[in-house]
Amino acid sequence: MSIEALSYVLSLDVGHPTRKLILLGYANHVHADGTASYAKPATIARYANCSERTVQRHLDDLLRAGLLREGDQRLVDHLPRHGRPIVYDVAMSGEASSAWAAAYRPGRRATAARHGARGGRRAAENRVRGDTVTPGPVAGGDNTTPRAEGPEPQVGGGDDLAPQDPGIHRGDTATSPGRGDTALSPEPSPFNRPSSSPTADAEEEGQPYQRSASAERLVSQLPGPLSGHQRRRVAAEVAAKLDAGWPEDALRTELVADVGSARSKAAVYLHRLNALPGCPPYDATEQRASRPEHCGTCEDRTRFRETPDGRPYPCPACHPVPARRADGARVESALASALSA
Ligand SMILES: [Zn+2]
Repeated sequence: MSIEALSYVLSLDVGHPTRKLILLGYANHVHADGTASYAKPATIARYANCSERTVQRHLDDLLRAGLLREGDQRLVDHLPRHGRPIVYDVAMSGEASSAWAAAYRPGRRATAARHGARGGRRAAENRVRGDTVTPGPVAGGDNTTPRAEGPEPQVGGGDDLAPQDPGIHRGDTATSPGRGDTALSPEPSPFNRPSSSPTADAEEEGQPYQRSASAERLVSQLPGPLSGHQRRRVAAEVAAKLDAGWPEDALRTELVADVGSARSKAAVYLHRLNALPGCPPYDATEQRASRPEHCGTCEDRTRFRETPDGRPYPCPACHPVPARRADGARVESALASALSA
């Protein structure tokens, strides 16, 4: 427990009372420096008098805002894999929050939420239960990367069981009147542009030779064994990521990290490709883009603005990555229509 973290979180306005209780719950389990909370979602749900699903939803917001980040997952290596909670760090300063928000990349949590939203209530239930039940084949094979293992396989199954459930979305907004969670997550979300459609389109009009050659070269450099079918599936996903602007080197680094002991390499690669954001992380892109002149409104260092309730979003005027500027513009128009509603 950390008095410092608790008192810091108490001083924050995080825009929603339940979200604040959830953050306090995590702060109650961290070290003095704010790191290494591995409370189970059930524990946090008990603190906040809410469901585990509500915890999951607010977790996404807290991560995106940089108030939490995923910590050193090796700290739970000693726990049984199927019941392993995720390790979180709690930001102990506004500076840390800005940096974490800028570095935020949707990992398993955001991926799970995305599937939950698409798959409806059944999928959401699977997602919550997924923390304690046997993981599917993909998660099982990915035993070397804690951040990538988890409930997505069950969640994917949920897509078939329960198609659209608009009730989920109604429920989300009803619990936060006047704030509009949905307004701040414009569709398509900045982080989850479908990665497969560019490939499908390209295949229809004849794949650009160079891109598919790069994808095949990259796949041929990955540790195997991979069957021909697996090779083609991985190559198609790699090609989509290359299309989205991922540099080949960065992609290779993401894929080969700690893959040594995984049972099914193909499952690990596909799982990781699926979990990667549609466009490359901030740093990789920033190196290639020239930095526009500062607009004077956003934070100069991160080029992020903040919503009235303190959530950072990319500056629509001067963020160095055009796609992120477009994301920021969507957030602002959502804010504007939320205000006029
Ligand atoms: Zn700006």
